[in-house]
Amino acid sequence: MTLLVVESLNKNFGGVVAARNVSFSLMAGEILAMIGPNGAGKSTSFNMVGGQLRPDSGRVVLEGQDITGLPPCAICRLGVGRSFQVAQTFLSMSVLENLQMALIAYAQRTRDMLARADALFRDEALELLDQLGMADAAARPMNTLAYGDVKRVELAIALAGKPRLLLMDEPTAGMAPGERAALMRLVAGIARRAAIGVLFTEHDMDAVFAHADRILVLVRGEIIAAGMPEDVRANPEVQRVYLGTSGLRAALRARAAAHG
Ligand code: ADP
Ligand code: MG
Repeated sequence: MTLLVVESLNKNFGGVVAARNVSFSLMAGEILAMIGPNGAGKSTSFNMVGGQLRPDSGRVVLEGQDITGLPPCAICRLGVGRSFQVAQTFLSMSVLENLQMALIAYAQRTRDMLARADALFRDEALELLDQLGMADAAARPMNTLAYGDVKRVELAIALAGKPRLLLMDEPTAGMAPGERAALMRLVAGIARRAAIGVLFTEHDMDAVFAHADRILVLVRGEIIAAGMPEDVRANPEVQRVYLGTSGLRAALRARAAAHG
């Protein structure tokens, strides 16, 4: 089933073309990577899908519904989740409390928070933590977690909204290489099991080539290549403008290893 259709999105900032005729689609359960050098327009494209930016022209269609230009909260309610940043977790609260807060917020039961927040959505929160291998850390305050674990809690918070589409703009930024691959493996497993479509961008080519079903390559606001990892790798333009051939070979070896 087609989850997301992006049609000819354009966005200019002053004289800078941040996105030019960006078009792609995403199926339920599919993991789509958008890669490209800094300033290529990846975040701009994400933000037009998530509603943080209004496109100059073009359309974003989610499960047949035109969501172009809707505010982020409306798009979120329609099933689009984003992995939030560290600042948006409550650092002095425990891991479990953070997740319960997220679940309460998604359920729009904020009034009840004043009553007995500690009992609300506790089982759901624990189950989510378990999926992410974080159940043992439930009672720990956020500000005692290692960075990679904070990232996993951010992912759990995004999943708390039961998204059908998950947008992840550099979800592993700042993580060690081994942790990056592990987080993406976790995302890929959960997404495939729950048929969540994932659009992500990531600088680590090993993580991209190991886990993406398809890859879009963006350069100066334009998609210059799109396809299966093998095809993108073989694309001479991609090799010329973006990726060193040797780096790609290494990334494909990592993919082969990850898939046994
Ligand atoms: P990426 O995420 O691929 O690194 P961005 O989407 O952040 O790229 O940026 C694409 C281009 O648009 C860059 O040239 C950037 O400087 C410009 N840009 C992005 N956001 C803004 C903004 N809010 N105002 C002005 N220029 C912007
Ligand atoms: Mg960016």
